Amino acid sequence: MAITEVMESALKDGQFTFYLQPKYDIRNNLPSGAEALVRWIHPEWGFMSPADFIPLFESNGFITTLDEYIWEEVFKTLERWKRSGFKLLPVSVNVSRIDVLRSSLPDTFRRLLNKYDVEPEYVHLELTESAYSDNTREIIDTVDELRQLGFLIEMDDFGSGYSSLTSLNELNFSTVKLDKSLIDYIDQVRGKKIVQQAIDLGHGLDMKVVAEGVESKEQRDCLKEMHCDMIQGFYYSKPLKQEDFIEKLRA
Ligand code: C2E
Ligand code: CA
Ligand code: CA
Repeated sequence: MAITEVMESALKDGQFTFYLQPKYDIRNNLPSGAEALVRWIHPEWGFMSPADFIPLFESNGFITTLDEYIWEEVFKTLERWKRSGFKLLPVSVNVSRIDVLRSSLPDTFRRLLNKYDVEPEYVHLELTESAYSDNTREIIDTVDELRQLGFLIEMDDFGSGYSSLTSLNELNFSTVKLDKSLIDYIDQVRGKKIVQQAIDLGHGLDMKVVAEGVESKEQRDCLKEMHCDMIQGFYYSKPLKQEDFIEKLRA
């Protein structure tokens, strides 16, 4: 059976969920946020990672339905944590470039804010810079509207694929996430310089800088020396089931 034939029933059946990968504050080694990452647990096919289905859903448009579902699940989870007295950490959600082109994006998030008892500062929106390769007025307005609602916007995958410095100028990001492909070269002379320049660029624009895909202590130490703010990577933690995430935070 093809993925496209089962995706809608899979969503209704609750086969999609999200894992949480903590982002650590590099100064004190404590979690200061998390990213929600979708997972599809199919009764027969088993565990599927986003690479197996996101590109397909981006091409057939189903990504918007799935993303809205994940965003709502994140709001529900944050509300539940709040009610149970659990200290809230901001959770970021992924917003596909297809979602951004839809004019109703601010309406979707406005509805979620009205429906759930969650402050917008606890939800960060991660956008890939390629979402802005056509920097139309419309996209700039959408991002401004989301900012006005109180959301913080993070530029995802900085340094990979499209490198649009223009979007850093035009869009009001609070955070820039350095792509794993940059971090992978940090042990080389030129690679290290590029990461340092990217961190300085982020700070010069009053943004927080998160390094993604950090896998070793050497990388962590190097990023600390360079005054990177946050680390997200297997060195600290893989993406975790919600129960395991809470357990880790409690520990
Ligand atoms: P991303 O947004 O850049 O998310 C980070 C990816 O890097 C995650 O892969 C995470 O598991 C992986 N990662 C984190 N630390 C390390 C590390 O130290 N080493 C290595 N090798 N990998 C690390 P994942 O969960 O497979 O997601 C892949 C991509 O799928 C995401 O990249 C994002 O572009 C997309 N994605 C995931 N969830 C969603 C979603 O809910 N909506 C949308 N639209 N896209 C999503
Ligand atoms: Ca992301
Ligand atoms: Ca990323």
